[in-house]
Amino acid sequence: MGRSKKISKRGIFVTGTDTEVGKTLVTLGIAAKLKTEGINTGVMKPIQCGGDDSRFLKKSLGLKDSLKDINPCYAKASLSPNISFTRENKAINISGILKCYHKLERIYNFMVVEGVGGLLVPLKNNYFISDLIKEMNLSVLIVGRLGLGTINHTLLTVKMAQDLGLDVAGIILNNSQSKNGIAEKTNPDVISKFTDVPILGVLPYLSKISKKNIEKHMVDINLKPILMNKKNSKAEVLNKMDKKYIWHPFTQMKDWLRQDNLVIDRAEGNYLIDTKGRRYLDGISSLWVNVHGHRKKEIDSALRKQINKVAHTTLLGLGSVPSIELAKRLIDISPRGLKKVFFSDDGSTSVEIAIKLAYQYWQNISKKKKKKFIYLNNSYHGDTVGSISIGGIDLFHKIYHSLLFNSFKVAAPYCYRCIKHKKYPGCKFECLESLSNTLRKHHNSIAGLVVEPTVQGAAGMIVWPKGVLKKMSSMCKKYNVLFVVDEVATGFGRTGKMFSCEHEGISPDIMCLAKGISGGYLPIAATLASQKIFDAFLADYKEQKTFFHGHTYTGNPLAAAASIANLEIFKKENTLLKMQSKIKIIQKELKKFSKLKHVGDVRQKGFMVGIELVRDKKTKKPYPWEEKIGVNVCKETCKHGLILRPLGNVIVLMPQLSIKKLELKKILDITYRAIRDITENS
Ligand code: PLP
Repeated sequence: MGRSKKISKRGIFVTGTDTEVGKTLVTLGIAAKLKTEGINTGVMKPIQCGGDDSRFLKKSLGLKDSLKDINPCYAKASLSPNISFTRENKAINISGILKCYHKLERIYNFMVVEGVGGLLVPLKNNYFISDLIKEMNLSVLIVGRLGLGTINHTLLTVKMAQDLGLDVAGIILNNSQSKNGIAEKTNPDVISKFTDVPILGVLPYLSKISKKNIEKHMVDINLKPILMNKKNSKAEVLNKMDKKYIWHPFTQMKDWLRQDNLVIDRAEGNYLIDTKGRRYLDGISSLWVNVHGHRKKEIDSALRKQINKVAHTTLLGLGSVPSIELAKRLIDISPRGLKKVFFSDDGSTSVEIAIKLAYQYWQNISKKKKKKFIYLNNSYHGDTVGSISIGGIDLFHKIYHSLLFNSFKVAAPYCYRCIKHKKYPGCKFECLESLSNTLRKHHNSIAGLVVEPTVQGAAGMIVWPKGVLKKMSSMCKKYNVLFVVDEVATGFGRTGKMFSCEHEGISPDIMCLAKGISGGYLPIAATLASQKIFDAFLADYKEQKTFFHGHTYTGNPLAAAASIANLEIFKKENTLLKMQSKIKIIQKELKKFSKLKHVGDVRQKGFMVGIELVRDKKTKKPYPWEEKIGVNVCKETCKHGLILRPLGNVIVLMPQLSIKKLELKKILDITYRAIRDITENS
């Protein structure tokens, strides 16, 4: 059977406000009506507990498909599926359901899939009908009951569906009892007034359910909204609008404007889902921030609770409950010398604050000459003018040179390309000579040394050998210079410990935190300082030793609530302990990468991985930057369902700490193949 009518949707998922509202009747009615209109329509009832609905649908519609495909999961007892199936020692096989669905979807132009009960019917632990709908990537049609007291159920179901990110295409109201009073007559208008979802029609009470009977009443039901795929055309429109209005960060917009770009619509766990419903593993944790997966129930719920109290109040002159609780928790888990928390919004501001605190500290204690900072070659601390003044990546920072304050730049460890041509272990950290010399010569004018502890992230995941951080910390102590560590990228478990400082048992004077602090939910940052620094700002009002700094959204209560929930999950789920075996998997799997023809160096610290690609392995000759080798590899991984973002010629892997072992293996496998195919075939 062909198509006589323009349709762009693949199907609809029929759900209800509760059980016995007439979902099967509506499923039959829609399929029958579409078939008579010439649309090749199939049906599915993936899960059935008791009754004979699937057989009835198959028979009434004269479908040739096997009953096992129409209804892959059946249990006898008319109970909630999780109970009904458990009683028979059976599990609901979601991938089996999806297989059948995709098989039927290939046969038919349009699929009508009937759910079981309503949206939040549990199918198994933490998996509801709504999750299945998302996996099928279908819009939903809600069947509601007509009658007194039912407006609430319909509105609740619509609201829940929309809150869950589902596209609600329409509502059909069914008079499942024979009453026809004022409630029955007025409900459709009331419901229509309180939702933006179209009411497709009302079905009268049917004493006998048969195809013929329902077909008669389907004449007045408007099926247009369920046939037109708002989603796909919306995806195209969004893509165009993005190009028209948005200037993307760290992006050559000339390239962006001429290529097809992904637009992310939603996410689940460790996956991102685009506007066309395609799923991708989030291999960089949404730019190194996501910790326990997307849409983590505990964080979602902490945010909901907080939003019911207040979204934002200022910390300028007022305290706020979540910021207080978060500050205490941060101090509890941070290196022992850190005692005070200054909140801000993102990594760059946390570093700006660190610079200003360190600077003013010396001014306040009358060491007026100590005004300069030391920073490392290849360092990255953000993009604001202060943070780029201590940034050591020429590609990003050189152009702004005359805008920046003067600082001392010194060499940083980079074992693969050691400037002293030494080998670790065996060397004496000769790479730190320039730091040592600068401190010796200039310590009287130096306020602080700022470093990314143990891994220089943006430089290409350059991992330092053990001992470097401790040595730096001792040098700072020796020369009375503040030691500032920027744990924006390395913090919150990334390197296998809560903070990277812990690998070497050091306690800095100032520590910058952002990214993973809120589990990757909202922008919030913190600059932690020692008591000594804090005390230097305590003075009589007129002395003007106050720290005159503060951002509007400093310590935002919503972001703080998300951060508290994030830290709670670390405890509850034993995240740091659980990630250790995954770190070993990465370590083991990465070995084979080193053997690839164009892989020069493979670096790993916990969940931070950098794979440096080189044109020539022997000479370590890099790929020319404009060849975009990293970009090309990441485009290839994307084709296979993995989103990565390179740092020049370095492929970065930064999965969520919550990544499952199988997902981790998939990430490593896709990356390996993409590197091999792109570097060896081009
Ligand atoms: N510091 C480090 C070590 C970083 O890696 C970054 C960002 O990648 C920043 C600071 C800047 O953080 P944000 O982008 O949140 O301003």
